[in-house]
Amino acid sequence: MKSLHAITNRGGKFALAASMVSLVFGPLPLKAAEGGSVADNFKKAFEAAGTEHFNLYNMLCPRIENANAGKIAQPDDARKESIEKAASAKVFDNLYYVGEYAFWESSASAWAIDTGEGIVLIDTLNPDSGPILIEKGLREQGLDPNNIKYIIVGHAHGDHYGGARYLQDKYSARIMMSDAEWDFLAKDKRDPDQKPRKDMVIKDGETFRLGSASFTFYVTPGHTPGTVSTIFTVKDGPKERKVAQWGGTGFGFNGAEGEEKLNWFKTYFQSAERFKSAIKESGADVVIANHPGLDNTIEKNAALSQPSARDSNPWVIGNDRVVAYVQTAQSCAAAGLAAYR
Ligand SMILES: [Zn+2]
Repeated sequence: MKSLHAITNRGGKFALAASMVSLVFGPLPLKAAEGGSVADNFKKAFEAAGTEHFNLYNMLCPRIENANAGKIAQPDDARKESIEKAASAKVFDNLYYVGEYAFWESSASAWAIDTGEGIVLIDTLNPDSGPILIEKGLREQGLDPNNIKYIIVGHAHGDHYGGARYLQDKYSARIMMSDAEWDFLAKDKRDPDQKPRKDMVIKDGETFRLGSASFTFYVTPGHTPGTVSTIFTVKDGPKERKVAQWGGTGFGFNGAEGEEKLNWFKTYFQSAERFKSAIKESGADVVIANHPGLDNTIEKNAALSQPSARDSNPWVIGNDRVVAYVQTAQSCAAAGLAAYR
C-alpha cells in the first residue's frame, strides 16, 4: 500500500495543497446560528434546492427519521433497465459520463477524466454494471480502457466501488480512498474477492495532479466515516473549469440511534459547511453527483446534443447553484439535528 505522499516524493506527479486542513475527527460543538427548528431547516433546504436540486432534497429531508421514507419500490427489472439504457456522454472536452441510466435510486454514476496522461475515474458503479458500462462507455467516447490509471472511490458502498476490483485486476488501475473509508470497506461483509485490494490513501486537503487535471480532495464524513468529496479541473474550450462532486449523499448511518445519530447529523453538517467554503473559494460552477437522479444527468446529457448547448453547456449552473446543492444537503442535516437534539 502506498500513500499519496510516497508517490509525491517518488513520481513528482502529486503535490500537496498549499494549505493543509487537518481532518476533524468527531463533531465540534454547534454555534447558535446552526440551530433552528425542523420546519425552518426544511424550508431553507427547499428554497436552496429549487427545482434543480429537488431530487436531492427529496432523498434527504423526508428521511431524517427513516432512511427509506418516500422511496419508490424498485421493479424487478430496474437493474436491467439501468444497464441496458445507459448512455455515455461527453460533458466537457475531457469529462465523460460512463454511468448508469436513471431513474432508480440504485442507479449510480461513474465519471471519466481524460488527463492526457491517463484516465482518472470517479466511482465504478454497481457490481452488475461497473465491469460492463465503464469500458463500454469509454470505447463509445473513443477512449481506451487500457489508459485507466487512477480510480477515486468517493465512498465504500457497493454501488460506487462495484467495478473497482475488476478494473484493478484487469488494468492495474490504482484505487484511491481515504484511510477511514478503507477501514469501512474492510468491515463490509461482501465477498473479499469483490472488494478492491487496499491501495492508495487520500489525505484530507491534498491535491493530486495528472496531465492537464488537478483534483483537490476533502474528507467529508457524514454519509460514511471517510467519504471523499472532490473539486477538480476540466477543459472547456479555452477555459479551465472547476467541477465539484459531493462524495456521499444519504443519511443511512447504519441504524444509529439517539446520541450516535445526532453526532452523525453534526458530522454531516460540518462536512457540508467545509465543502461549501471550498466550492466558493474554487469558483466551481459545475456540480456532478454519484447518482444520475441527483444532478439530472439524463436530462442534462440529452440537452448537450441540442444546438443551444453550443452556447451554453447545461452542466454549467454557476457557483451559487453549486453551493446551493450542498446547502440543500446541509439544511436537511440541520433538520435532523433539530429533530434529535
Ligand atoms: Zn452510499
